[in-house]
Amino acid sequence: MTVLITGGAGFIGSHCCVSFLEAGHDIVVLDNLSNASSLSLERVAAITGRKVSFVVGDIRDQAEVEEVLHRYKCTAVVHFAGLKSVGESTKMPISYYDNNVVGTLRLLSAMDNAGVRQMIFSSSATVYGEPQFLPLTEDHPTSAVNPYGRTKLMIEEMLRDVAASDPNWRFGILRYFNPVGAHDSGLIGENPLGIPNNLMPFITQVADGRREQLAVFGNDYETADGTGVRDYIHVSDLVDGHLRAHEVLAEGAAPSNCFTVNLGTGNGYSVLEMVRAFERASNKEIGFSFSPRREGDVAECYAHTERAEQLLNWKAKRDLDAMCRDTWNWVCKNPAGYAAEAAE
Ligand code: NAD
Ligand code: UDP
Repeated sequence: MTVLITGGAGFIGSHCCVSFLEAGHDIVVLDNLSNASSLSLERVAAITGRKVSFVVGDIRDQAEVEEVLHRYKCTAVVHFAGLKSVGESTKMPISYYDNNVVGTLRLLSAMDNAGVRQMIFSSSATVYGEPQFLPLTEDHPTSAVNPYGRTKLMIEEMLRDVAASDPNWRFGILRYFNPVGAHDSGLIGENPLGIPNNLMPFITQVADGRREQLAVFGNDYETADGTGVRDYIHVSDLVDGHLRAHEVLAEGAAPSNCFTVNLGTGNGYSVLEMVRAFERASNKEIGFSFSPRREGDVAECYAHTERAEQLLNWKAKRDLDAMCRDTWNWVCKNPAGYAAEAAE
């Protein structure tokens, strides 16, 4: 009864390992470390007091995945592995289709051969494209405006087709809004390499002096203060949503063998509200200046959360202050992310 966690050494995956281990599940992580450090898993072990089984491997290596599923007697997969940068995906679409789409296909084939037919998949609110109404329900039309988003949509379609072909398959497609925060121990968190693309890691690097100021992309949106609005969700809440999805799937309690659920808080915060909340949490001034809108950005994006509440009996608990406080705690305790310890 082991759960395979692909991409489990990464930001969300490492928090998911904690959540599943603390709930008493056995896990094995498969990660190629292309965007992670294995130190995250040592920290997971320190938090939970449980050893983490870890295989350095690639989801595209079908034979290896199949061997791992057999060796650990896996009964389910939580699938985080993949590439996630929108900007990079426009420059390296082949890598994105290979890692995300081909990788998921190989993983599904390995699962099929090993008789493992339950998967939770990390999708994204990016599949909603330009919102036609808010909050975004799961039935909102989907569209992709970049290769990354298209990989998520393609994988969703693949999973629905596989589910329709055989009722023994069970899939939970989870569409994340904007995951931020860190475990409250400060031992694991987001460890971006290079210049961060996302707002929260960029703000933290201004707060700790690594970057001079934040460029706020656009102050002429039709929002209360003109800056972009997003639904930020604490990563610990997000992974608890996975735990619930896993339980619902394992119990066969879902209304169908493939469900799609938003994981967000339902609250939208603007860039300037995020800056102010982070200033409160860190007691640092976050310098910023306004820049033109970033191409492809939408004005507002936040989740309708009712389906998650009803189907998963799950609701995000942590507020914006907790998201900022826990992020800052992680950054203060690990100024160079996992890199400092790795270099020792
Ligand atoms: P992350 O980069 O920290 O984690 C992904 C992990 O997968 C990394 O540890 C990486 O080394 C590993 N990986 C990548 N390609 C692999 C491969 N071919 N084989 C094995 N391992 C591989 O990213 P994250 O923020 O933890 O995101 C996890 C998942 O959630 C991704 O699928 C991402 O697209 C999705 N998601 C993330 C966000 C976000 O804002 N962080 C939002 C929506 C969806
Ligand atoms: N943003 C910004 N400056 C940055 C990074 C992001 O102003 O350096 C804004 C961005 O335009 C959006 C919000 O912050 O309105 C969240 O951006 P992020 O990239 O974190 O998430 P996404 O846009 O993918 O939802």
